[in-house]
Amino acid sequence: MSMHPKGPLPRKQQQVQVDLKQADTIKCKECGNYLWIQSFVLKKLSALVSPTGQETMIPVQVFSCGNCGKIAEGMLDESEEEKKPDFKLDI
Ligand SMILES: [Zn+2]
Repeated sequence: MSMHPKGPLPRKQQQVQVDLKQADTIKCKECGNYLWIQSFVLKKLSALVSPTGQETMIPVQVFSCGNCGKIAEGMLDESEEEKKPDFKLDI
């Protein structure tokens, strides 16, 4: 007798097992600290370019170093910003 159920297995939600031992801990480039604080950079969209025609504040979530406050590398790289898709406003 097989222990395996017959027929198709019930669909599981796709789960990816991640071994955190294999993941690098991101450390602050400035001070080596590895604890980060969730914070927001506020971008102000001027009325001229805003789809609403009004000045708009856009919060961009970043992580800043819990020790020295430096923002995690790659999170707020101005040159990278152009490659990212445009922020979508829910109007
Ligand atoms: Zn730091």
